[in-house]
Amino acid sequence: ASGGGLVAYADSAGENASSETSQEAPRKKKVVVLGTGWAGTSFLKDLDCSKYEVKVISPRNYFAFTPLLPSVTCGTVEARSIVEPIRKMLEKKRKDVAFYEAECFKIDASKKAVHCRSAVGTNFDGNGDFMVDYDYLVVALGATVNTFNTPGVMENCYFLKEVEDAQKIRRNVIDCFEKASLPNISEEEKRKILHFVIIGGGPTGVEFAAEMHDFLVEDLVKLYPAIQDFVKITIIQSGEHILNMFDQRIATFAEMKFQRDGIEVNTGFRVVKVSDDLITMKSKSLGEVSVPYGMAVWSAGIGTRPVIMDFMQQIGQTNRRVLATNEWLRVHECDNIYAIGDCASITQRKIMDDISTVFKMADKDNSGTLTLKEINDVLEDICIRYPQVELYMKSMHMLDIRDLIKDAIGDSHKESMVVNIEEFKKALSHVDSQVKSIPATAQVAAQQGHYLAECFNKMDQCKEHPEGPLRMTGTGSGRHNFRPFRYKHLGQFAPLGGEQAAAELPGDWVSMGHSTQWLWYSVYASKQVSWRTRMLVVSDWTRRFIFGRDSSR
Ligand code: FAD
Ligand code: MG
Ligand code: MG
Ligand code: MG
Ligand code: MG
Repeated sequence: ASGGGLVAYADSAGENASSETSQEAPRKKKVVVLGTGWAGTSFLKDLDCSKYEVKVISPRNYFAFTPLLPSVTCGTVEARSIVEPIRKMLEKKRKDVAFYEAECFKIDASKKAVHCRSAVGTNFDGNGDFMVDYDYLVVALGATVNTFNTPGVMENCYFLKEVEDAQKIRRNVIDCFEKASLPNISEEEKRKILHFVIIGGGPTGVEFAAEMHDFLVEDLVKLYPAIQDFVKITIIQSGEHILNMFDQRIATFAEMKFQRDGIEVNTGFRVVKVSDDLITMKSKSLGEVSVPYGMAVWSAGIGTRPVIMDFMQQIGQTNRRVLATNEWLRVHECDNIYAIGDCASITQRKIMDDISTVFKMADKDNSGTLTLKEINDVLEDICIRYPQVELYMKSMHMLDIRDLIKDAIGDSHKESMVVNIEEFKKALSHVDSQVKSIPATAQVAAQQGHYLAECFNKMDQCKEHPEGPLRMTGTGSGRHNFRPFRYKHLGQFAPLGGEQAAAELPGDWVSMGHSTQWLWYSVYASKQVSWRTRMLVVSDWTRRFIFGRDSSR
């Protein structure tokens, strides 16, 4: 089932070569990239574009550094500082790469083409639609907002997904303050207008709440002294805690800080309806409660783009939220389509599904049993193909495979350490419980883009040495030349306002407070995609330190 992502190339290239070799060099393969977000740009940056005919399609001709979007909502950082024109990023590769500012509205896998609609108006015929064909398609379309069909959310809430969203929020925050400052507004009305509600206690919602609070206490109280007492910030979270994807210590730290800051955190509440002036939420213990509000920001979960939904229908991936790919990031059942970033997720193969094959591969002497040496000889390959084996051993504090086998066969075989298939199965039977799904983050998207580019750069070698290092895992994927994609988690930050942040770094290292905020500044400055945006961001921070934020709309 997990047929060869890059093997497909090896096969078809063989045919092409024979038909085209005689006169001219074979034409370059066409690579079409959909999307210029984290995944798409990271792929393009590392791709050797001279090897392919590359076309990039996205309705936005820039890349946006999303982790700083919450800072844009309050003017801590300017919108211009976090975007980089895509043509600028591709400057050095420009002659090899074409960019079309358009939206893809249909992927046609059978015709190997994508249907697009211009994002900059129509052409002279009054028609802005066109078709682009590909040999390889890289789908990096990201995700959209998810309202879970809650009534009134689309109409009444703000979102925080795109640069425009952050700019809209910024204007509206200021509008609320000006509105509440007008004459003849009752106190009750002021309280309502200045009630800012954030729905969703994930990293984005929390960071936005923290930004709002800082804007308020550092800048707005001085500018709007008459109404400062009417301002309130509320976070509504359906789970028991905010930041529940972080270490418990961080969640607690954040909740306590917010309590001191006067940010109300309503956990265990699910928003069921939003009207133009009331948010209705429900909790198990308190039932339905409605609160008046001035501005609501919805940041609760991500959804599927229509074009992805349509494509999943086509290829039979129904009832899914994101495209399923194999460990080499190739979309299941599609030979030439890869998907990376938020629009995709990897289905890790279970070792128990392949257990007989793995056993046969390891049993080099066909004895029907495995010796410790036989197992050790293939252990590395097994761990590459099935990372859950390593994760399982680590979680059980096992040092090597011997412990795993001892568990299965008991003490009787202790000396000989020879296992038959049943014992081998038993030894590995719990391993698949450690299959982990990876999160929808910029970090993942960027690593996937980088990985896929490396694979594309080395496709020639793949053709020449199709066996590769994974020769033993012959479960249909034995001819892959590349190691499967492996996510390397480098940690995550949660800025909490007041020059404080929390961080969770690899090796269970948790840090919180002012020094972590400085770490955050340096990491986010270094992660900027160009020296230009790095300068802009750092100078925005400096300006904010010295002069405060700009509160004009
Ligand atoms: P995106 O970056 O969203 O890119 C999608 C691209 O596809 C865009 O260029 C878009 O214009 C384009 N596109 C959309 N529709 C079409 C179409 N029909 N045709 C062609 N092109 C199309 N992650 C972290 O790791 N750390 C953080 O601190 C962090 N903070 C975040 C803060 C906010 C406010 C948000 C919204 C996200 C944050 N994330 C963070 C998550 C991170 O931004 C995403 O995981 C990441 O953007 C996913 O990358 P992507 O390339 O899959 O999608
Ligand atoms: Mg992208
Ligand atoms: Mg992006
Ligand atoms: Mg993903
Ligand atoms: Mg044997």
